[in-house]
Parts: sequence; C-alpha cells; structure tokens
Amino acid sequence: MGKPFEKTMKVVNDVVKPAMNFFKESPDELDNLRALAIEDQVAIFDEVNKAMTDKKRKVALYEFGLMPQLFFAFDCAPFCLETYPMVFTGVSKEIFQEFIAAAEEAGAPSDVCSTDRFILGAALTGELPTNSFFVTGSAPCDGTRFVYPVMDKIMEIPTLYIEAPYTYGREAAGWYGKQIKDKLIPFMEEVTGKKFDIDRFREAIEESNRAYELMLDIFDAYTMKPSPHPLGLRAAPYGGFINSAGHPRLTKYMKLIHEDVTQRIKEGRIQSQHEEKYRVMWGHVRPTFDPTIYTWMEEQLGASVVIDTLRSTATLLPIDTTDIDTMLEGYAWQGLDMTMSIMRLDTRALLDFTINAYDRYNCDCMIITQHVGCNNICGVSGIWRRYFRERDIPALFIDLDYNDSRVLSSEQICNQIEDFFNTVMV
Ligand code: SF4
Repeated sequence: MGKPFEKTMKVVNDVVKPAMNFFKESPDELDNLRALAIEDQVAIFDEVNKAMTDKKRKVALYEFGLMPQLFFAFDCAPFCLETYPMVFTGVSKEIFQEFIAAAEEAGAPSDVCSTDRFILGAALTGELPTNSFFVTGSAPCDGTRFVYPVMDKIMEIPTLYIEAPYTYGREAAGWYGKQIKDKLIPFMEEVTGKKFDIDRFREAIEESNRAYELMLDIFDAYTMKPSPHPLGLRAAPYGGFINSAGHPRLTKYMKLIHEDVTQRIKEGRIQSQHEEKYRVMWGHVRPTFDPTIYTWMEEQLGASVVIDTLRSTATLLPIDTTDIDTMLEGYAWQGLDMTMSIMRLDTRALLDFTINAYDRYNCDCMIITQHVGCNNICGVSGIWRRYFRERDIPALFIDLDYNDSRVLSSEQICNQIEDFFNTVMV
C-alpha cells in the first residue's frame, strides 16, 4: 500500500502538468484555452493534496448530486469522486486497472459500474485522500449505493447519506434543499469544527452564478452551425462547473472562453477546419480513455459531437440568493439536474430533456452508449429505440465501458461509428 493520493499526484505532476504547460506555450490560442481547463483540474488536485495535511481544513469527498459551493463556504477542498477515474483512464491505464482489480478481488462484481469499482479499489489500496469526510445523495444509481457503504467501512471517515428525490422540478429541489439544511450543514459543522456562515455561502453562490451565466451564453454559441470551438473545448465549461462552481478561478476561465467564442462569432472566425456534415448528439457517457475518437469523427466522417445528454441539462435558472432557503433550493437543483443524478428521472422526462437539446442544437443523429453496469441507461434502451424510430431520428447504440478500453477498444468503437455513418447516414 502506498501513501494516500501518492499515485494520483504522480500522474498529475508527471503527465497532466507537463501537458498543461505544453498547451500554455503553444502559439495556438485554442491550445491556450485548453491549458486553462487543465489548470482548473490541476488546482483541484493540488488543493486536495495540500488539505490532507492542513489541520484547519478538510477534504470533502462527494458524489454527483451535490455541487462544490457549499464545501468552498466551509473552506474545504472539494473532490468529486465520480470524475476521479478520468485522471487515469487516458494516461495511466495500469493504475486504473490496478484499482479495478483490487475491487474485484475484494468481491465487487465486474458488472458494477467501473467508476464505482475504481473508487472502491482506490479506497482498498489506500489511495483516497485522508483528513477527509464523505457525503452523497442516493441518486443516481445502484452502483453508488453498493460501493459507498463498503467504502465507509474501509475508510472509517465521517460519512453522510442524504435522500435524493425521484421527481423533477422546484418542489423536488426544495425538498432536497431542506435535507441539505437539516442534515448536511449540521454534519459539516461537526466535521469541520466551523459554523456555517451564510455570507460565505452566498459569496460562493454568487461567484458560481457569474460562471453559470457565462456558461449558458457559451452553450448558446455552440448551437451555431458550424460550431465555433472544437469538441475538446466545448466539453470543458461544463466539466469545470461541476468540479469548481463557486471558485473565482472558474469564473476567470469561463470569461476567457466566453470572450473568445464571442469574438470568433463577431469576426466570422469559425474553428472547424472540416466540413460539419453531421451534428451528433451523444447520449450518456463518452469514452474517457480516448478523446481522439471525436477528432477522428470530425476529420474522417465530418461528424461533430455538438452536445451530450449530461451537458444539455444545464438550462436551469441561476440560484436565487434572497435567503438561505432559496439558495439551498437552487443549489440542490443544480446538484440534481446538472449531474448524472438526472438519470434518476423517469424515462419520459429524460427523453424530453434529450429531445429538447437534440432540436435546439440542430442535430442529425444520436450516438448512445450503453455503459456496463449503468442500469439507468441500459434499462431504457428499448423505449429510446422505439421513440427514435417514431421521430425518424437515426441512432447508434454502442455497448461499452466508458472508462475501460478492455471491454470495447477505441478501434472497435470507431468501426461501429464508421459503419453507422457509411450505411445509415448516407
Ligand atoms: S455511469 Fe451510470 S452506473 Fe455509473 S455512476 Fe453514473 S449513473 Fe451510476
């Protein structure tokens, strides 16, 4: 067993930081924007690493269903476990596989979501950050419900579960917000030894509102055909928001992306060097182990992934900062409906979200991943297929593991996509 977070920081220091510096020094201004997105990720890891040995701070381990603003208000270093495997899946597959193997050797079935098996393996091998606590809602899935109680036993850190609603809308968000008020805030006061400060929370919420409004504008720009930014950049604002909402560095970064995209549109400087023949909506998770697939799609097939089902939910209202209840309701709403917790919804609601975005972004087809262990999406594929047929929407369903290329390799994914565009889409 190594030291906690040691392998993670080695990958961050040896691979991620040099990549960030490479993009920073590039003469291409889009690379410079990419560097900012990586810088945000690096800052998260550095902060967690520092907070592990800081007696005045705590690392807040949390899951989709919650957002970082509240943790910033308590001066914690937030770390969203759901996004953790992605550091390794692309650049350090052996560590990813080591954690997966540790979970399976301990008895985790191989058909549990690899994100959850990875987190369990990281806990078993002592990699997860210390000086931490863990909080999660009950959404989105069985995988998380299976892994977190086990993790709780292994790590023996303060842990809190709150109940996520199955319904959608403000009432459900208000109900979830009340649990945050009655359970999560007192829990955090206890584990951090700090009193909840409404002004600090409001500050974090206002900061995140600024970033959020910029992000919505950026997303509006991406409805243009052809899209003014390449895919690598289009995905970054959402990823940044989920992990860093409430931190000024995110707002700064969002401003720069916003300025760039606005300028490009004004000057008619559209990025795409390839004809955008097809605008693709990606349903559910995208393979994290090989981002070059999307560039290949653009270059070889003229198929551009312009939106996905996770990012497309980001069309909520900014958080109302009038009082604690309005703030918590909005904060809860973001956690529920901007993250994978959206999967808790009934199939009809999920389909409505998907089709709204499909139409808004002028898409021509769908690619939907059926990720191993994700009962949420695999369980509804029949209904989705029927619906797409009725609406005459060409759709490709791919069975894969979005973190693990051993289940379906990049080459096999590309072959399926190529066949789809060369047959159905011609
Ligand atoms: S991909 Fe599916 S199974 Fe995995 S954590 Fe997300 S909702 Fe759960």
